Amino acid sequence: MATQHDIKSRRAELEALFKVFSDVPREVVVKEDILRYGQAFTEAALKVGEHYRTKTYGGWLFSFDRVTPDQAKHGEVNRVPDYLELKGGLYGLRGRLRVRCRVNPDSPYVVDQVEGKLWLCERDNGGLAPIAELWEYRPVPRYWSMKLADGSPYNQVIRDDFATVFMYCQHWGPDEECRFCDINENARMSRERGVLTIPRPFKSVEQVAEVAEEIFVREWDERPEYDRPHNMTISGGAITNKLEGLPENEFYIRYVRAIREKIGQRFHLNMQSGPKSKEEIRVFKEAGLDSHSTNLEVWDKELFAIICPGKQRVIGWDEWVRRMVGEVEVMGEGGVTPGFVIGCELAQPFGFKTVDEAVKSYEEGFDFLMAHGVVPRPISWCVEPRSALAGQETPPTEYFIRIDRAWYERWIKHRLPPPGSYKIGPGISEYPNNAAADMGHP
Ligand code: SF4
Repeated sequence: MATQHDIKSRRAELEALFKVFSDVPREVVVKEDILRYGQAFTEAALKVGEHYRTKTYGGWLFSFDRVTPDQAKHGEVNRVPDYLELKGGLYGLRGRLRVRCRVNPDSPYVVDQVEGKLWLCERDNGGLAPIAELWEYRPVPRYWSMKLADGSPYNQVIRDDFATVFMYCQHWGPDEECRFCDINENARMSRERGVLTIPRPFKSVEQVAEVAEEIFVREWDERPEYDRPHNMTISGGAITNKLEGLPENEFYIRYVRAIREKIGQRFHLNMQSGPKSKEEIRVFKEAGLDSHSTNLEVWDKELFAIICPGKQRVIGWDEWVRRMVGEVEVMGEGGVTPGFVIGCELAQPFGFKTVDEAVKSYEEGFDFLMAHGVVPRPISWCVEPRSALAGQETPPTEYFIRIDRAWYERWIKHRLPPPGSYKIGPGISEYPNNAAADMGHP
């Protein structure tokens, strides 16, 4: 959490970071700092948000908030959008700088309404100092008000481009769950506050296909160009035993087939799951998959075993890396896109003791993976209050910027395509949880 000292000094810190990282776009610096602290909202800003699209359970595996819903006293968790899109302001931010909403009522960053427009501000001597203007929040699409035959709202099934088809993870409890992850708690809390009402722990193939067709076929043309999804991710917790009587591969491939059949070939289809053998991933590709995010989460081998004990027990770091590299032969460069939760490798007492050590680990990891055609996806760690790492200090903003720069330098060096369907560039990237894809010309 921010200290009083931090709260008074974010703009000064940003300007100091601009000087240190003069080769990095300002958008990257600003975005990583906002992600690190999360955002507070004034009542005026929350009221504006009620007329637009707010966060729903539909897409997110994790809460990505710095507080639990009951700690956000003004109902923020239900009243904010999925992400903010910043422009202009003090630092002339380019494009639509997309930043995930990470609710934190104590953040030095506050969204407020200023002369009829929304601005991201900084707390300043009891007032608020505007930093960057926000693009208008996203409009409410038609499918938002639609329901399936069993009464489940469409917007709980898919959030535009992301479907969490299995809402829990079979790595269960402290000896199995990844320590940064709150998936099982997030589903439980979402049920408690009534935003997750789908009765079973997973969404049926028919439900997901029906909603995908509505979003990508029936109403796609009716939405403004800037608000049309161009890709779809199928995600969910790990299946280590069986679900619906099916092992993981058979469970997930039904969604790939059904969605591809409904949305046609135009749109990119991604899946997040454990790593596959070449034979296994070939079956997914033939079913219509374009990219596979097989999230290793932590590059350092010893820290992986500590932070991801379930993944280590079931597959292990060596086998995970071997399969990821093998998948490139089937999916091609840019088609294997493992996520890494950047920052949790500095958690104490087991993590790296210095930022330099952690940066070195990722420099080596990115180089190894990209040399083999794997394009990693950094995800800036959000210390969630219901994860096993709750209460840990978030690493300094400088760390995240150095990781983004290390990623970009190696991505250029190895002359790779973007991961999956990403776009790369400041204010062009659509990825809200990290700024590596916002790298480009400063
Ligand atoms: S495998 Fe780990 S990160 Fe993925 S959902 Fe399960 S506990 Fe969370």
